[in-house]
Amino acid sequence: MSESVKKCTVCGGELEQSKSSYAMGSHLFADRIHVDIYTCPQCGHVELFAAKPELVNCPQCGTPHPANEKCPICALDTVLDGKYGR
Ligand SMILES: [Zn+2]
Ligand SMILES: [Zn+2]
Repeated sequence: MSESVKKCTVCGGELEQSKSSYAMGSHLFADRIHVDIYTCPQCGHVELFAAKPELVNCPQCGTPHPANEKCPICALDTVLDGKYGR
């Protein structure tokens, strides 16, 4: 059985994934929340699970970081460069 099977907390049935990495709250939050939406076919219960952020490799330094965020390594370098004028 797949390790990703999720059980309904109401009736114990198997939840079915209806949306993957659905972006929520784009107008309410500075950072969007991505969720996987699961629904129970037996009782209609809906559960949300935080989706794993999509990682991209930084073109500058190759460090993997979430696609919707700046590279933490390069952001730090930029701050240090500005401060110490290398
Ligand atoms: Zn259920
Ligand atoms: Zn980088």
